[in-house]
Amino acid sequence: PSARMPLVVGNWKMNFDHLEATYFVQKLAWLLRDAHFDYNRCEVALMPSFTSIRNVQVLVEADRLKIGYGAQSVSVTNQGAFTGDVSADMLAQLKCKYVIVGHSERRKYHPEDDANIVDQVRAVLTAGMQPILCVGESMEERRQGIELDFAVGQVHDVTRDLSDEEASKLIIAYEPVWAIGTGLVATPESAQDAAKAIRTDLYETFGAKVADVSRILYGGSVTSKNAVELISQPDVDGFLIGGASLDPEELSNICRLT
Ligand code: PEP
Repeated sequence: PSARMPLVVGNWKMNFDHLEATYFVQKLAWLLRDAHFDYNRCEVALMPSFTSIRNVQVLVEADRLKIGYGAQSVSVTNQGAFTGDVSADMLAQLKCKYVIVGHSERRKYHPEDDANIVDQVRAVLTAGMQPILCVGESMEERRQGIELDFAVGQVHDVTRDLSDEEASKLIIAYEPVWAIGTGLVATPESAQDAAKAIRTDLYETFGAKVADVSRILYGGSVTSKNAVELISQPDVDGFLIGGASLDPEELSNICRLT
């Protein structure tokens, strides 16, 4: 499989208890098997709540499912007196492959600024997992016409001190904030423009060996109705999906179309 094999990530946010999560994974696996889905053509990953990750792991291992999984955020520290936090090592221990970092909802409801996000990226990389770094402008920047500079700036600020080796592990999700959970999807052209601008920045900072292998996802109101046009864009390598990832039928359809 190529380094930029399409990737579909379901971000469940704060939905599903561990029993619902177990049921969902079984149902999704069954639907994909029934559709003769080719896991070598498109990768699928689910991001449950912390409380469900262990269940998903046990199920994936017992049934040898080719579905990946990870977490929605992580502590910047490794252990100690940080009540309520979960460390990257704890997630790696559960065989998490990915961790979402800097989702706009985390930036909004928690004190996650760029410095904190840099530290999360490092924690995830150090533990041997891959960060899915979320960036994207709000409606205000779009109105001002500075959306590309804004999203590229967010990537640049977080990644510039990484080594080439570290940067090559990074996955970036371009998620315009105004498109998240609103039903307002970016046009394929503007998703492509942003993905391309981000890839160009990676090229300038790290060179082709990073820029050519980095997967850049689009997120924001993706459904089975708009997935085909979006994935046909040359720099869009997959999706980060919120609402539509809560329905196994819809998610399996998106996987098949990606
Ligand atoms: C998200 O939360 O990352 C997201 C893209 O949500 P939605 O698909 O619901 O817009």
